[in-house]
Amino acid sequence: MSTLRVNLKQNVDNSYDIKIGQDLFGDFVSGLKKKPIAYSYVIVTDSNVRKLYGEELKSLIDGISEKTLMLDFPAGEKQKTRDIKSQIEDSMLEAGFGRDSAIIALGGGVVGDLAGYVAATYTRGIPYIQVPTTLVACVDSSIGGKTAVDTHHGKNLIGSFYQPEAVIIDINTLTTLGPGEIREGLAEVIKYGIIADYELFELIEKRSDDIFKYDIDLLSLIVEKCCRIKGDVVENDERESNLRKILNFGHTIGHAVENHSNYTLTHGNSISIGMVLEGRIAVNLGIWSEDDLERIKSVFIAAGLPVEIPFDIDPEKLISSMKIDKKSRGGVIEMSLPEAIGKICRIDGKYALKIDDEIIRAVF
Ligand code: NAD
Repeated sequence: MSTLRVNLKQNVDNSYDIKIGQDLFGDFVSGLKKKPIAYSYVIVTDSNVRKLYGEELKSLIDGISEKTLMLDFPAGEKQKTRDIKSQIEDSMLEAGFGRDSAIIALGGGVVGDLAGYVAATYTRGIPYIQVPTTLVACVDSSIGGKTAVDTHHGKNLIGSFYQPEAVIIDINTLTTLGPGEIREGLAEVIKYGIIADYELFELIEKRSDDIFKYDIDLLSLIVEKCCRIKGDVVENDERESNLRKILNFGHTIGHAVENHSNYTLTHGNSISIGMVLEGRIAVNLGIWSEDDLERIKSVFIAAGLPVEIPFDIDPEKLISSMKIDKKSRGGVIEMSLPEAIGKICRIDGKYALKIDDEIIRAVF
């Protein structure tokens, strides 16, 4: 027998800039003209965002691209599927886009996750740029390179880690969001405050009303703080082996609740409930204080986010679904829990703590 070794030690630079500002499309496209990442560009967006911002961006890209295509799909999570991914790929293939093309993902988290996953696999990978237009996408999904589609077995189950070339955040696009979409993002923003930034938490505590009034300076400040936190976390742990797990605070219970509501509860609403229940677990374990838990509950309530599960549910069913979640290990449920507002508890160097079923049962 002979053994030949293929040495493939990786030394890659996946660094990228996140640009945050107002009226950025012009600057973004001039930047691409100076430093192109492809010969031709495909803008992937959804039916709502196409009308709001798609045509404007396409006319700018037309000026610098050998060939431009804009593809949209009906808005909403239900479209984040393998089927829509194939449709986008087929349209690109039929239009003759090859390895010298790049994708611009213009929209919320659904567009970003789906378009990013197309980019990850199209002709074995082409560059893409995230242009997020929801608060969720600006503070969370556009950064970190997690791309995916949903299946009927669950959300985000098929996908890949694939980092964008750049993230372009035009804060003005947030002014066309409805209050429901702002609230969805705010749940994640409050999470960042709890896990990593006491000042950010205090800012939301004092000024959540102004966010719903689309105060641009405040939105810019918040987006910048959240991007810095997420960027730092991803820089240190791209593949979620330890530190990145702090971003999952509230998501272990939150995902189970979202799933058992048959997705009638939104993600933001579900993780708000999840953070309160996981916070209760932290208090019961003696890690966190009751006062802090009450304080975060008041902030969720002031933002119009729920703090209790609004329907009857068998706790055993929730526990079973937490066990098949991507975050559990060998059937043991893991959670990242706060020890103070602005700080996640770390035990023996690990941010994800193993939690007994009995402890979880007690909070339901
Ligand atoms: P979304 O993309 O469905 O957008 C919500 C709605 O807002 C849609 O109807 C959309 O058309 C509309 N919209 C988008 N921008 C708009 C604008 N500027 N003005 C008016 N309407 C606008 O949902 P979302 O909340 O942005 O993202 C949720 C998705 O993100 C989920 O699929 C979730 O799994 C994913 N996600 C991924 C990550 C990650 O790390 N990859 C992190 C968090 C969430």
